[in-house]
Amino acid sequence: MIRAKKVYFHASKAEQDRLFACNRESARVWNECLQLAKNFYLEHKKWISKSELQKQTKGKFHLHSQSIQAVCHKYLFARDSSHQAIKKGRTTTRYPYKKKKHYNTKWAKDGFKIHPNGNIELSMGIHNGKREKPIVVHASNLPQGHIKEIELCYDNGLYLAVSFEDGQEKKAYQAGQAVGVDLGEIHTLAAFCKNGQALIITGRKIRALHRLRNKKLAEIQRLQSKCKKGSRQWKKYQRAKQYILSKSGKQLQDALHKATRNFVEWCVKQAVSDVYIGNPEGVQRNTRKKKKTSRKQAQKLSNWSFGKVKAYLKYKLMQDGIHMQEVDESYTSQTCPVCKKKKKVSSRNYVCSCGYQEHRDIHGARNILSKAIYGDIRHFDVPTTQKYLRIA
Ligand SMILES: [Zn+2]
Repeated sequence: MIRAKKVYFHASKAEQDRLFACNRESARVWNECLQLAKNFYLEHKKWISKSELQKQTKGKFHLHSQSIQAVCHKYLFARDSSHQAIKKGRTTTRYPYKKKKHYNTKWAKDGFKIHPNGNIELSMGIHNGKREKPIVVHASNLPQGHIKEIELCYDNGLYLAVSFEDGQEKKAYQAGQAVGVDLGEIHTLAAFCKNGQALIITGRKIRALHRLRNKKLAEIQRLQSKCKKGSRQWKKYQRAKQYILSKSGKQLQDALHKATRNFVEWCVKQAVSDVYIGNPEGVQRNTRKKKKTSRKQAQKLSNWSFGKVKAYLKYKLMQDGIHMQEVDESYTSQTCPVCKKKKKVSSRNYVCSCGYQEHRDIHGARNILSKAIYGDIRHFDVPTTQKYLRIA
């Protein structure tokens, strides 16, 4: 399977400068793509093709030819995805139009060389008939397996996104148990399997990290709001925000990886083949209550986490041949599956006057599973066997 890994590296100051220059140059390629596409459309009343775009950008930039091509491909991909979204009726989608100052540079198969000592040569291609000296960086934790592509990215520092073939076969899908998943709050994942087994993963660390980050962000936000937008001090606070987001992002990422890995291991034990995950459509209980950070900010953070968890799950489940699908989770937390009465849950347990009761999060997972299988909320008449997992 093709996998991706974030790799940090060492490079001399001079080489780092050249790397930054690459990403500025890639941005120039992107901007040129925008311009060429526009001109082509005005002149021919049709869209520029891949071969035309490649022809017109070839040899014009200070990068390896495949690195230039990679930007063209990304431009075309962005254009075509917007087109699909617009065709589906999304009114907020636009075709790519924004000029960029920095853009990730990609080196494909002929664009880099890896030496056994961990040195990576990134080719700069041939200019005026002369091969330019490659950029050399050193990485100590390159992934095992055949490396396919290297992308130069930036997130409070440069790093490489390395995609590689790990040589492992993806497991085939084999019909088995079905599981409903309720991502109740950012730090909990509750799952219910049709066979009655249930799992709750709570992460105090995730919750603590998330709280701390929100607190710090709110504090900076407060100070920043007193400055004039765009002023030097304002920019300083903006950078501080970026720093917190990036740093806490890394810690959260680790914790989320751990939580999702535990869940997938549990799925394998239960012989699960299908996972149904509730989609809250950007609404999450815990962040909604926080009035301190602006609503928009809170929303952004929770969407970020939800999207991450989903992406991690999908990826990890896929390796074990398990399918994952999203289910609209509206009313699943309120509805009693036995008598269909609706009520808001305020305590840890959902208790209905008809006698049904269940742990709040497992209740949600049960109803999500029912919605996925039957299309409405029904009761699975099996006793629940709960398992708690606390991740550090
Ligand atoms: Zn009831």
